[in-house]
Amino acid sequence: MLKEKLTAGVTAYDHWSKRRLHGPAGANNLNLWVLACMDERLPVDEALGIHVDTPAGGGDAHCFRNAGGIVTDDAIRSAMLTCNFFGTKEIVIVQHTQCGMLSANAQDLEKYFRDKGIDPDNITLDPTLPELKLGKGAFAKWIGMMDDVDVTCMKTVEAFKNHPLIPKDTVISGWIWEVETRRLRTPTLDHEKRARTDVTSAPFGVKGKQPARWG
Ligand SMILES: [Zn+2]
Repeated sequence: MLKEKLTAGVTAYDHWSKRRLHGPAGANNLNLWVLACMDERLPVDEALGIHVDTPAGGGDAHCFRNAGGIVTDDAIRSAMLTCNFFGTKEIVIVQHTQCGMLSANAQDLEKYFRDKGIDPDNITLDPTLPELKLGKGAFAKWIGMMDDVDVTCMKTVEAFKNHPLIPKDTVISGWIWEVETRRLRTPTLDHEKRARTDVTSAPFGVKGKQPARWG
């Protein structure tokens, strides 16, 4: 009967739309938090074989995107909330080849602002939280540019595994989306596996190492 199908659909949607009322028992479909680069060439659903976004039928994960898909204070804040209070048991981190975060040296980006008369040593990062401050000279490091996306991905995984606000039993993995080949692989230092893609800052003509955020 169509009536039964419609009733089941309405009930399921009601539960889905109000799931946060249920705290950890109202987790997303896969008890999953995804951290991914904001890049438009990284299709999270396709890369992971999941369905993050609405409308109804989506809802497989909480998805956090930033430049690089790297660990930042707000990534930790969001992971802390979902892992401790919204029922999330797994973290999946996706970074990608051809990332814009490989395309410049952070020191040059800092100079860009200095040349415009902005002092990066005296910046309010979050206007609602002036207590959040960078130490002097930390601005370029804060930008988080990468030398090597595979290395960065592995270090990002470690950062979440070692963070005191993330429960120790959280399953955490990191992945590289190859923009050139449209496929997912594990982060690796194997030259053969990396050869078909651009994974370091060298092809972008970047000179010098980034400030030692990932060292
Ligand atoms: Zn990127």
